[in-house]
Amino acid sequence: MELLVSKNNQKSNSIIKIGSNSKGNKPVSIGDGGLSIIAGPCTIESYDQLMTAAHGVAKAGANLLRAGAYKPRTSPYSFQGLEHEGLELLSKAKSETGLATVSEIIDHEDLPYFEDVDLLQVGAKNMQNYSLLKALGRQSKPVLLKRGWSNTLEELLLSAEYIVSEGNPNVILCERGIRTFETGTRNSFDINAIPMLKKMTHLPVIADPSHGTGMSDLVKPVSMAAVAAGADGLMIEVHNDPKAALCDGFQSITVSQFTALITGARQYEKIRSFY
Ligand code: PEP
Ligand code: MN
Repeated sequence: MELLVSKNNQKSNSIIKIGSNSKGNKPVSIGDGGLSIIAGPCTIESYDQLMTAAHGVAKAGANLLRAGAYKPRTSPYSFQGLEHEGLELLSKAKSETGLATVSEIIDHEDLPYFEDVDLLQVGAKNMQNYSLLKALGRQSKPVLLKRGWSNTLEELLLSAEYIVSEGNPNVILCERGIRTFETGTRNSFDINAIPMLKKMTHLPVIADPSHGTGMSDLVKPVSMAAVAAGADGLMIEVHNDPKAALCDGFQSITVSQFTALITGARQYEKIRSFY
């Protein structure tokens, strides 16, 4: 059976508009052939921490602001996020910077708190949480679906199909690294996934080199590789003080490193249009 998300099912690639319902904010299009850059801290920790990062990434040229409020951590003893209070801070950051926002949802019952969030992220751990996927298929906000670290590309597409078949065609896929025998890095970024998914589906595909490597030094080179390979966007963790971050500091980069990353990414974006 041909899936709704299959490349063959649609003549042209899907272009997902983000932030089109919010007042005053210019919608961001992902999948139109350009490169969209999503950036911000892994987790919202405080007003000051979020605002510093948000203004920093906005000035550097990010198109969307990411920041987690509900954090599904591996250990129950790790910081779990500021939850709905974090989302209130994210709304303030959105109105101060004018950037559309993305944040992770882990339970469909929290949807009312996400009213002002423009793009709903489903994390790697929830890629196969089918009741969450179905609920997100029954609402109209776009969904950013991250690949589980032990899931095949076909399984990722079937998860996207759960959302699309419920009536929401606005899905963006994200490669964020997979678990391999290599222990030197947190994950192995699967560069094949980018051009392979572009062959398999009409949905946009973005790359998350922060989780894909787990090491701040590797984020820029792997970002360049993902852009060259055809990614529709990058999602990058940026923190004003990575060493003090409550979550994922090891893989977070500073605003000045992020500024250099964007400059490089825009150059690779030009090169790839030649092949
Ligand atoms: C994140 O984006 O901060 C995150 C938790 O990512 P993943 O679900 O890919 O682990
Ligand atoms: Mn993270």
